Amino acid sequence: MSHNAYITETTIEGADDGPLAGRTVAVKDNISTADVRTTCGSAMLDDYVPPYDATVVSRLKDAGATIAGKTNMDEFGMGTTTETSAFGPTENPAAEGRVPGGSSGGSAAAVAAGEADLALGSDTGGSIRCPAAFCGVVGIKPTYGLVSRYGLVAYANSLEQIGPIAPSVEEAAELLEVIAGPDEHDGTTRDAAENGGNYDYAAAADGDVDGLEIGIPTELVDDADEGVTEVFWDAIADLESKGASYHEVELPSVEHAVEAYYVIAMSEASSNLARFDGVRYGNSGGYDGNWNETFAKAREEGFGEEVKRRILLGTYALSAGYHDKYYKKAQDARAWVKQDFDEALSEADVLASPTMPVPPMKLGESLDDPLKMYLADANTVPINLANLPAISVPAGETEDLPVGLQFVGPAFGEQQIIRAASALA
Ligand code: GLN
Repeated sequence: MSHNAYITETTIEGADDGPLAGRTVAVKDNISTADVRTTCGSAMLDDYVPPYDATVVSRLKDAGATIAGKTNMDEFGMGTTTETSAFGPTENPAAEGRVPGGSSGGSAAAVAAGEADLALGSDTGGSIRCPAAFCGVVGIKPTYGLVSRYGLVAYANSLEQIGPIAPSVEEAAELLEVIAGPDEHDGTTRDAAENGGNYDYAAAADGDVDGLEIGIPTELVDDADEGVTEVFWDAIADLESKGASYHEVELPSVEHAVEAYYVIAMSEASSNLARFDGVRYGNSGGYDGNWNETFAKAREEGFGEEVKRRILLGTYALSAGYHDKYYKKAQDARAWVKQDFDEALSEADVLASPTMPVPPMKLGESLDDPLKMYLADANTVPINLANLPAISVPAGETEDLPVGLQFVGPAFGEQQIIRAASALA
């Protein structure tokens, strides 16, 4: 297909009937599919075929969905543009010559191009919301623990959730209904019903924002591009005309969120990716009699540059003598971010900001500057640090490029962000 949205095109039929009967779903290639290769966008796993389905995949099949293929992604989810994939970049169907965002860029592009009705992505620090924003579609990062991670190849397991990408808020909510809920295979899942929520997500997409109180974190708006900010405030005015009101809030901790996120994500990645040694998992570089050299060769050949950078930095941050200086500090910052968001949400139903501070970059533009790429995640990573739910919904365009608006809700308050977002569609 023209945009390179898929790594593997296939057809996996689901049950004859169910809530998703007759609909196709594209699945990010770090979500395990029995008998269909699952590469994580990496040469390390280019012929890896899992022997089992991820829980979300079993639920899709039970719901009658047809899986249309496995989508392109930044290698192991590490990126914001889908350009670190070993299978080449994906192009943004909504903005020619531009990146689709990442790391779930293939999933968002498949939906935006009409190559699938719906898609699943994973979001460790924005990887569902960023590509949704860049491709002009809807994406939801659920509350940590709402959706099973069983069968998701881990990048940074304390931060990530699988979630839906769809053309509309209602369709994203329908897909969330299918995948949400406790799973005996994932001990970190929680029952929304026991935590003040329920699972009627699609019904919440009723567009009714009369009386809704929106908190706007100034830190997440002030640093965005001018064109993005204009679209954002127009959307807020639209919500006001429908009966919502807003006040500005301060989240002083978010200044440190990007640093804290990258220390934690890279530390967890260095540990999670240790299994790819060419013996337990991953392609072997060929055994030459020396274990250390064989291990090093498999990883040298199998991993791309960005993945290696992160494993090295993560290993460094966790090493003896540096643990307190980096990892522990990052955990303290994470607790502070969580506290700031809880406080802000005690006086607002939802928080709102631009999803991404910039419009989609040109293909090739940000690859040489990893720091610039990390900073583009400023508005999305705090939400993962705080374990909260968030949605990105199309809010308009600047110079013909899509702009997404992000709503953040309280833990297991998915209905609130779905309702708010549905008023903009
Ligand atoms: N861009 C962020 C990163 O590279 C987020 C990725 C993700 O959510 N998987 O870590």
